[in-house]
Amino acid sequence: MLNATKIDASNHPGFDHHEQVVRFDDPDYGLVAYIAVHNTNCGPSLGGCRVYPYKSEDDAIIDVLRLSRGMTYKSALARLPLGGGKAVIIGDPRLIKRAGFMARFGEAVNRLGGAYITAEDVGSNESDMIEISRATPYVAGLPPQDNEDQDHVSGNPSPVTAYGVYCGIKSCLKTQYQSDSLAARTIAIQGMGAVGYALARYLAADGAQLIVADMNEEALARAETEFAGRIRIASPSEIHMQEADIFAPCALGAGLNDRTIPEIKAKIIAGAANNQLAEARHDQTLRARDILYAPDYAINSGGITSVGYEYFSRSRNNPYSYPLTPQKMMEHVARIAETLNHIFTLAQNKGIGYGEAADSLAEEIFMAGASSQITAA
Ligand code: NAD
Repeated sequence: MLNATKIDASNHPGFDHHEQVVRFDDPDYGLVAYIAVHNTNCGPSLGGCRVYPYKSEDDAIIDVLRLSRGMTYKSALARLPLGGGKAVIIGDPRLIKRAGFMARFGEAVNRLGGAYITAEDVGSNESDMIEISRATPYVAGLPPQDNEDQDHVSGNPSPVTAYGVYCGIKSCLKTQYQSDSLAARTIAIQGMGAVGYALARYLAADGAQLIVADMNEEALARAETEFAGRIRIASPSEIHMQEADIFAPCALGAGLNDRTIPEIKAKIIAGAANNQLAEARHDQTLRARDILYAPDYAINSGGITSVGYEYFSRSRNNPYSYPLTPQKMMEHVARIAETLNHIFTLAQNKGIGYGEAADSLAEEIFMAGASSQITAA
């Protein structure tokens, strides 16, 4: 039996006026999950389902609070009529997902009546979303249905995230160097995974030189062949300190810290990785070094835009006055450049860090509510 208990999370670190936090458990399946809805001013909350072996339920609550809040800010800056939410399931994703397990989680999502829409995250995948969809319509990140034509938006969000980062990099170049040309520019990419590799393709096509690092030898070998003549490999421990115009973190979070920031030579940091600043104060450290930093959740919102469009399309609930085609979705993602311009101007006018400027802009947007989002798109 699936039990639901509303939680008072106000004493937990990371609590920030969350609308609701619910604990779900089903002893028959060994399911323990938390769903946090941070803010739905702009629309239903959308955010992935993380499956992770948290050491304690308190750790799971702290994570779901932090992650759901982050989604409110990300969707606001992406100008999506969506709010911020997230789910965490406690357990090792390789061990706990026995038959019917994810459908039970889908039932939990369904109990919230559409206030929360789930999707993939660390520890969950497309087949989990298919199973969840048996229990609830409030799920995104599903593969195209047989009867969907080619014009429907769905599928892997990583190339869309990469396109958004590429558009954001052009905006950074324009601000820092008054020209957005990538020819003769050098970009150091940390991580040649799904996003980093797709980003390298966009940059190379525009004539950029690449320095890349990864632990995955196969990805590096593939890149060396594909980008022959314009690529150099660096070690993962030294990628941030390369002589480059742009440093693009596309691997893990917390890469911008007391040790790395003094060693960075690039005057622009713009990449896909989530939570790049080790601590909030590093926002100011970058500013003091005259490094233009594209706040991670502002530049990496291509993925949430892709998933959001897929959900609008699948649920036949198009908030826009135009059809939900891949082209329209990419045009929406390209507006990351305008958002970053706005953030850079705000930071410069107010003398604050770029991260702080992004936060204040996001707060202004989600306080204004959904109609501002739809008009802006
Ligand atoms: P991925 O797992 O496909 O790729 C990450 C790559 O980084 C891997 O190839 C890995 O070997 C490499 N890596 C790990 N540690 C490294 C290190 N210290 N130095 C160099 N390389 C290292 O992940 P992804 O989907 O490409 O996502 C990259 C980042 O962007 C993640 O932080 C992710 O949370 C964030 N992000 C991704 C999306 C998306 O649509 N995929 C959207 C928003 C944010």
